[in-house]
Amino acid sequence: MAPQRKHITRGLRFTLTAVYTVVFTLLLIGVTLLFRQKLKNSLTDQAHDDLEQNWAVVKAYLRIPNDPGQTNYHAYWNHDRSDPDESTAVAGVKKAYLITDESGKVLKDTEGQDTVSSNFESMGIPKPAEIRSVLRANGAVLTNKTDADGIPYLIRASYVNGEEDTARKFYVAIGTSLAGNNKVLNGFTLLGVGLVPLVILTGCVMGWIFAGRALTPVLEVARTAESISGSNLSLRIPSRGAGDEIDRLIETFNQMIERIEINFNQVRQFSTDVSHELRTPITVIRGQLEVALFTAKTVDQYRDAIVDSLDDIERLSQIVRALLLLSQAETGQVILQKQHLDLAEVVEDVVDQFQIPAEGAEVNLRFEKRVAHCAGEFDRVQLDRMLSNLLSNAVKFTPPGGSVCVVLDRRDEIAEIRVEDTGQGIPPEHLPHIFDRFYRVRGTGEQASPEKGLGLGLSFVSWIVRAHGGTVDAHSEPGKGTAFVVKLPLSYAGSVVESPVQSELAKPV
Ligand code: ADP
Repeated sequence: MAPQRKHITRGLRFTLTAVYTVVFTLLLIGVTLLFRQKLKNSLTDQAHDDLEQNWAVVKAYLRIPNDPGQTNYHAYWNHDRSDPDESTAVAGVKKAYLITDESGKVLKDTEGQDTVSSNFESMGIPKPAEIRSVLRANGAVLTNKTDADGIPYLIRASYVNGEEDTARKFYVAIGTSLAGNNKVLNGFTLLGVGLVPLVILTGCVMGWIFAGRALTPVLEVARTAESISGSNLSLRIPSRGAGDEIDRLIETFNQMIERIEINFNQVRQFSTDVSHELRTPITVIRGQLEVALFTAKTVDQYRDAIVDSLDDIERLSQIVRALLLLSQAETGQVILQKQHLDLAEVVEDVVDQFQIPAEGAEVNLRFEKRVAHCAGEFDRVQLDRMLSNLLSNAVKFTPPGGSVCVVLDRRDEIAEIRVEDTGQGIPPEHLPHIFDRFYRVRGTGEQASPEKGLGLGLSFVSWIVRAHGGTVDAHSEPGKGTAFVVKLPLSYAGSVVESPVQSELAKPV
């Protein structure tokens, strides 16, 4: 448990959750601030609209008649007092207003009251200099002030001309309370400060849970992979059927394990086959020599025992040579010794060599030469090996009375050699694998064949054909026969082939 906790910060789950939380937090804070600003702007716009409406009321109803003494100007509201709308509008303006002359002296209204609301009074009458600058200004002057009760106001100051003496200007300021706006803004800020951490915390927990859920299949893959060893390669990770990336990973992983299992089984089978192949001649040699040692009396009897042993030693060296050569070929160490050859002659020679074994197996062997000559650059030794492997298989897997036909043809710069037999054929499920190393079709064929092969012959064929830049395909119909088709370019410059990949070797049509 302890080491797991120690590495928690290095896990993908932690990283995913951390990244998600940071991004989510920044986004949330950004969006909250943006909303707050938007709200503030719209509340300010609202306050401006209120002021403009009140100013329209001032313009419509406020009258300041001429005062011959020019010292006791009176302001009066020229509205219809019986009209509730007009009265309410004027009363609304009077909630926060101030009217002075240009010296800052507050005007009286018709009832002899000062034309200043209590809140404006508590904010202080502006100084004459301030009043004069407002009277001189072209538009309205907006300011923010707070009254004695701490209520903030947005104030719109401008002027109104005298009723008869239109050149005379009077200072008129009206205000609207921002208390409601600030309350809404503060409420929003408080909500943000309280909710944002809560939302982030919830998001963080959800992120942790979802990241954990998303990664569970990955951990399952890892657990299964850990439990797979050479002895239980048949283990597969069950697909979840979601068709997502994890399912693809599982599928790819399963396919990889399947390939490893196939290879592993082949190598295991090969080790068994090789040890068996090597042990049998060794046991026989040992038996022969022991018998000779204890029972042979004459020189001839000793000679017979040695000759028999030499035959078995020859088989042993053949197996070892084949293995060595194949491993060299697969590591690119075999370089073709090319020379100018006529394929017609080469094929004819090899077919001739196989006449005697074919007769022995009661198989009719023919060569059908469809072109008189077919010259190109080839390695004679490897070509012989390739043809011998194909012919020996054809003869080996064809029952007595059957026939084997080798056809040589040419299409433009490509030579085609077909080795066709009327033998037992290869079941379709085995066909894709017969070029794999050590692959042998188990069952009837093996029993029927007198000589048990190592399953390397067709791997050689495939490698030799590829080294010459050609292709080889196998076609077969069980019970009817098999045809191997080799296509070789007549002028191919390459001479070495990289390590052959098994699946590439096995591409029968
Ligand atoms: P082997 O040394 O066992 O013949 P090969 O690699 O040459 O190994 O062949 C692999 C397997 O392919 C053989 O074991 C046999 O089952 C099958 N095979 C090859 N050629 C033929 C054929 N002409 N007819 C039927 N089966 C064949």
